[in-house]
Amino acid sequence: MECVGARNVAAMAFCVSPASRLRLRRKKLWRRRASSSSSSSGHGVRCRSRWLKVEAKAGSESCVATKEDFADEEDYVKAGGSELVFVQMQQNKAMEMQSKLADKLPPISIGDDILDLVVIGCGPAGLALAAESAKLGLNVGLIGPDRPFTNNYGVWEDEFKGLGLEGCIEHVWKDTVVYLDNKDPVLIGRSYGRVSRHLLHEELLRRCVESGVSYLSSRVESIVEASNGLSHVVCEYDIVVPCRLVTVASGAASGKLLQYEVGGPKVSVQTAYGLEVEVENNPYDPNLMVFMDYRDYMKQNVQCPEANYPTFLYVMPMSRTRVFYEETCLASKDAMPFDLLKKKLFSRLNTMGIRIAKIYEEEWSYIPVGGSLPNTGQKNLAFGAAASMVHPATGYSVVRSLSEAPKYASVIATILKDGHAKDVFSLERRKENLSMQAWDTLWPQERKRQRAFFLFGLALILQLDIEGIRTFFRTFFCLPDWYGLFSLMHMVDVLEFAL
Ligand SMILES: Cc1cc2nc3c(=O)[nH]c(=O)nc-3n(C[C@H](O)[C@H](O)[C@H](O)COP(=O)(O)OP(=O)(O)OC[C@H]3O[C@@H](n4cnc5c(N)ncnc54)[C@H](O)[C@@H]3O)c2cc1C
Repeated sequence: MECVGARNVAAMAFCVSPASRLRLRRKKLWRRRASSSSSSSGHGVRCRSRWLKVEAKAGSESCVATKEDFADEEDYVKAGGSELVFVQMQQNKAMEMQSKLADKLPPISIGDDILDLVVIGCGPAGLALAAESAKLGLNVGLIGPDRPFTNNYGVWEDEFKGLGLEGCIEHVWKDTVVYLDNKDPVLIGRSYGRVSRHLLHEELLRRCVESGVSYLSSRVESIVEASNGLSHVVCEYDIVVPCRLVTVASGAASGKLLQYEVGGPKVSVQTAYGLEVEVENNPYDPNLMVFMDYRDYMKQNVQCPEANYPTFLYVMPMSRTRVFYEETCLASKDAMPFDLLKKKLFSRLNTMGIRIAKIYEEEWSYIPVGGSLPNTGQKNLAFGAAASMVHPATGYSVVRSLSEAPKYASVIATILKDGHAKDVFSLERRKENLSMQAWDTLWPQERKRQRAFFLFGLALILQLDIEGIRTFFRTFFCLPDWYGLFSLMHMVDVLEFAL
């Protein structure tokens, strides 16, 4: 196995521009602030202890993983790195409305039939792929902890309609707005929806039930190639599930189960701290979803350092008084700490005169972006965030996973059918890697080239200060429609202009 930790980051080296010097200063400041907030008796400590209490309450798996639980440093960063405790609090939220997978899916019968396919991980990508593969007649087993969906997903309404999932959207805004500075706001002209995590979970589970997926609630420890050409999926308590093919959909931090390309770019992180609250004096129009508010809310009146970081406010007004606000750092080489985002959010709301009457929920959004592709020569397949399907510049992946699941499943079904016909899974021909066909479907050359381009855009965004970001997005949102809004294909032209 290749050493994933030995990535050559030189490929991403840049000269030290004024923007990167600014970032270095910012990084030092974050470190100082993070250490003072965890060691002083001030605001940070009170926040942390309150958060830790939330964790204990949510608590099905409240113990915090350590670095040793991950394949290497990169895998640890993808899992949450220095923010791991918050990531786990987000993952361990109790969601009573969602069914347990084990209550609806039949158990995998260990020791009987050989499964055609094991899908590892029960996130949106894993559930969608398991259901689509079983629909094609494959004998599919799904393995992963029996956890609910806890994230608040936002989607373009037309995309979810295209997937037949409009019934899973709980709130729609007819238009979406971007504020960059005090000039006119930019109206996107596209409706945006908030996904009901409960309804999405129920719908994907229903599809698994209908297509006959079986299930085992367990973490997977490793995947071993057996001498007869089968794969052995090794779970907790030494349970071993044999199968003909494995697809890993266990999220971004899947380094223990997959090999990633060596020498690729280092992963960056999008972090956001959100609050769903009841408020007084909400200035945002409830008919519009605010995709980004990059305005200078301080109006340079108060000198507080966190006000200068290039973050924006993402706003979902559920009504005039019930609002989801999220302070978001689009991308950063070192994750912008939740402590700092939280401070900035409170300072912003306070300065805007918004008074919080009640807090419904806190959200800690940690999304690794960029990084390497999986090694597409390996026999085990991957899907979703594990397969680096997260968009490097936006952090979105759910719609891509849901829309590509049927095609990917049909390629997997073809591979397995060919495998039966030609007995290619026998020892002699095992090395003939038929999985390549599936990898090529997910990551054809053209798509790899496109991703390399997005990574270039991400690397440039990482260099911009707040003024650069405003110029970049103002230019970007002025592009004519035929340039493909949000395709980011023409990012370089825009960035050259911004820089
Ligand atoms: C708060 C928040 C908000 C977000 N909002 C959006 C959004 O609006 N739009 C969007 O596109 N993306 C959003 N994202 C990113 C998005 O959540 C992820 O990219 C997406 O969930 C990836 O889906 P996935 O199924 O590939 O992996 P995951 O959702 O990470 O699911 C992986 C599953 O694998 C399981 N697992 C992990 N390790 C193992 C193991 N060893 N064995 C078995 N199972 C294992 C996990 O328990 C989990 O159930 C958001 C993320 C967060 C945190």
